[in-house]
Amino acid sequence: MKVLVVGANGQVGKHLVKMIQDSEHMEAKAMIRKEEQASYFNELGAETVVVDLEDDIETISQAYEGVDAVVFTAGSGPNTGPDKTVLIDLDGAVKTIEAAKQSGVNRYIMISSFDTTREAIQGAPSSFAPYVVAKHYADDLLRRTNLNYTIIHPGMLTNDEGSGQVEASEKVERGEIAREDVAGVILSTLENESTIGKEFQVVGGTQSIKEAIDSL
Ligand code: NAP
Repeated sequence: MKVLVVGANGQVGKHLVKMIQDSEHMEAKAMIRKEEQASYFNELGAETVVVDLEDDIETISQAYEGVDAVVFTAGSGPNTGPDKTVLIDLDGAVKTIEAAKQSGVNRYIMISSFDTTREAIQGAPSSFAPYVVAKHYADDLLRRTNLNYTIIHPGMLTNDEGSGQVEASEKVERGEIAREDVAGVILSTLENESTIGKEFQVVGGTQSIKEAIDSL
């Protein structure tokens, strides 16, 4: 299975591409936005494609050639304003969903935020609310497609070494999770077709990633 990783040069993305390359039955295609980011992926033997999420759907679709599944783990990050939140976390995500539909790439995994419900929008501090709104509507659109989607809602991301142990369920207590473990959760999700049509929250916990994903 060839997996297009959107946001491959990000912190979760880099872990994920490495794990995919180390796996037996998958290979990664890293979607990056600058040619100079390619060396990390070339060293892993992963293909790269240079596309910016501010490009149009047709350009983004070109990255889907030869691909069986898409993972969206891009994000505008905390150092830009609401303009980029709308352009990347909302419109960028929507364009990758539209590109998946147009390209016939049916498997789509969204890395969402922990809580993207309307209540979470109402309860968010004003500086965070645009991000929750963006994630809410991207998730909402994805649920309304016929794509084989899974929506992953991780807790607060840390750069701790992954423990390989998580708690995953439709609803879990708010908590932290290592980015490396999020990558492991994505890999297990790609490997397990029973996650199709599901969404779940995930934080650090006491169950192995495989067990946690298999028991969803
Ligand atoms: P990250 O390190 O900030 O990586 C984000 C990636 O998105 C970067 O590689 C960045 O590219 C890419 N990107 C930004 N704008 C782009 C554009 N215009 N075109 C193409 N790519 C673009 O993110 P992370 O910490 O790994 O987080 C992964 C995901 O988890 C994100 O979707 C985030 O919203 C979500 N999340 C985060 C938290 C949290 O606690 N932070 C919690 C739950 C979910 P460059 O490398 O070129 O900058």
